[in-house]
Formats: sequence, structure tokens, C-alpha cells
Amino acid sequence: MSALPVFRTIADIRRQVGAWRADGLKIGLVPTMGALHEGHLSLVDALHRQGADRILVSIFVNPKQFAAHEDLDTYPRDEARDLEVLRTTQTNGVFAPSAAEIYPQGFSTKISLQGPALGLESDERPHFFSGVALIVCKLLTQSQTDMAIFGEKDYQQLLVIRHMARDLDLPVEITSAPIMREADGLAMSSRNVYLTDIQRPIAGQLNIILRRMAESDLPIEQAEAEAKSALLEAGFTRVDYATIRDAETLEAVSDTTTKRRALITARLGDVRLLDNMPAD
Ligand code: AMP
Repeated sequence: MSALPVFRTIADIRRQVGAWRADGLKIGLVPTMGALHEGHLSLVDALHRQGADRILVSIFVNPKQFAAHEDLDTYPRDEARDLEVLRTTQTNGVFAPSAAEIYPQGFSTKISLQGPALGLESDERPHFFSGVALIVCKLLTQSQTDMAIFGEKDYQQLLVIRHMARDLDLPVEITSAPIMREADGLAMSSRNVYLTDIQRPIAGQLNIILRRMAESDLPIEQAEAEAKSALLEAGFTRVDYATIRDAETLEAVSDTTTKRRALITARLGDVRLLDNMPAD
């Protein structure tokens, strides 16, 4: 199997996408920050099954979604390994631009968000969705693919991107795929490599406690409170949130709610772990 083509510039990615489109092919994008694991690869697979004829994976660790105190400098990066792993998938090319290509000197635009971007992750990381929306909007307009896929693993992010694409009339179909998990239920994440041998088994409890909350017959507030205490008892050092929300808006569950989502983010030391599942 030959090496995957790697595109470093906007001009190069557009040329390739234009050539595929001229052949009548449907093109899909999988945006990632690299350090690829089976969760990322499942998105490639899902996009293929959803009808993409050609699939591009973007690898870009986006500085604008990290606060100064966060792990931008230490975020795991291994492009050679990522390219090797992608060769065994349906991926047809990789877009791996430099930071200067994405944010040239004088870059001065921000995206301001409301709706599903409010609360939850934004309470802990106020800069985060603005940075994510900016890079996703840029990647979509740079590559001009027909489809782009995002994981339910980052459920709030998925809703934010769906809203942004709709609000800004981006000519792209946003799709999603379910969470890939380790054998004990821990959602796969590039940041799981930060977990120590002592933290790793505790991390596995997150999914068990999430499921219990999602399936609980108790009133919502009580189910949430029980989940919080269970997390602290299991050894999590802090619970950012453990909540059941309207699955479409992420607002508190109301009479008009038709679908619910249970979401937890809890910390083990410096490592933040996210998980979510339906709670109907
Ligand atoms: P990241 O590289 O962490 O920015 O993630 C890139 C994409 O992969 C996002 O759409 C994530 O939601 C998705 N993703 C990350 N982990 C998983 C997982 N365990 N299962 C499915 N999708 C995932």
C-alpha cells in the first residue's frame, strides 16, 4: 500500500477536492487533532458507510481552543504514526496544515456562539467552543467537502457545529458517529495517555456511573446528585458536571423535551474525562 498524500496548504487541498468533484465524487472530511485512536478511525469508517466516495482526514492541533494554562505544548503529536494508522482505513488523503497557514499574521476574526454552546463545557473552558467553531468553519470552507463527521463523544461540540453550519449556511452535511470505548467502557480519547496506572481503573467507573444516572428512575436532580457523589467516592478529584439535559438544546429538561442526554465531565487530577449517552 502506498503512502497517503499529505496536503499542507489550502490551495493544495482545494485542488484535490476540486478534481474529485469534477469526477462526480462525494467528498467527506474527518477533522481531528491527531494522536489518532480507534475512535477517530471509526469516524472514517462511518463516513464511508454514509456515502462519502473520497475521505480526507485533517490533523491540526488548534491553538485557539486551548487556554494559556492548558496542554497545547504537551498535547500528544505523532504525525508519522497517524499517517501509518490511516493507511489501513478508507482515507484518501490527509490535510495537515501549519499554524501559519491557518492563522497567518494579522488574523483577527472570532466566532461568537450562543444556544447549545452555553454552559457545561463553556463553564469550565470559556474560550473553547469559539476556538473549535473557528477552526471547523475554516477547515470546512478551506476544503469545501460535501460532508464532515463529528463524534458523539464530544456531544456538545457536535450540537455547536450543527448549529454553526446551519446558521452560517455552510454548504456541507454534518454527520455523526457513536462513541468508541475501551473494554471497560472508558470513552477513547487522545488524552487517556495522561492517565496513570492508578487513575486508569478509576476512569473506567465514569461510564458505569453515567449509565446508572441515565437509566435512573429517580427525579433528575436526585439522579444527578447521586452520580456526583458516586464519582467522588470512586476517586474522581472533581466533577465539572453530571447532568441530564434536553438532547437537542442542552437546556434543562422541560415539558417539551422529547429526547434526553446524560452528560458527565469529571477530573482525575489534571485529566478531564467526558462521556455521554441517551437518557430516555
Ligand atoms: P479530537 O482529535 O479529539 O479533536 O477528535 C476528533 C474527532 O474525533 C471529534 O469529532 C471527536 O468527537 C471524535 N472522537 C474522539 N474520540 C472519539 C471516540 N472515542 N469515539 C468516537 N469519536 C471520537
